[in-house]
This record gives sequence, structure tokens and C-alpha cells, in this order.
Amino acid sequence: MASTCPVCGKSIDEAAAKAPTGQTKFGAQEVDPAQGTRQFYDGKWYYFDSIQCRSKFVAEHKDV
Ligand SMILES: [Zn+2]
Repeated sequence: MASTCPVCGKSIDEAAAKAPTGQTKFGAQEVDPAQGTRQFYDGKWYYFDSIQCRSKFVAEHKDV
């Protein structure tokens, strides 16, 4: 299943973006940013092709 980056419109391999690579010190699942990344916002997961796009999205949605 593929998603599209809400920031730049690039298509993302959702499965790759979801693949866990480890855990952060807060216990949250961490994914490989090279394979895309995601952010839970407003009740659903948003997928991004890069950390840069996610940062941009988060900056535009300060209530995340
Ligand atoms: Zn993007």
C-alpha cells in the first residue's frame, strides 16, 4: 500500500516507513528515516518521505 507525502506529494512505501528499527529512549517506536517516516496527527498516521517533510508538517501543525 502506498501513501503520498502531504508536504511534497512524493509517493511513499508505507510498509517501509512503518518498519521499526528500534525504540527511542521514551519507548516510542522509531523508524528508519531513509525509508520514510510518519507522524500521528488528528487521529491518524501521516506518512512522509523524509524527516525534513515531517518537520515541515509538524511546524505547520503546532498542536501535534
Ligand atoms: Zn515529502
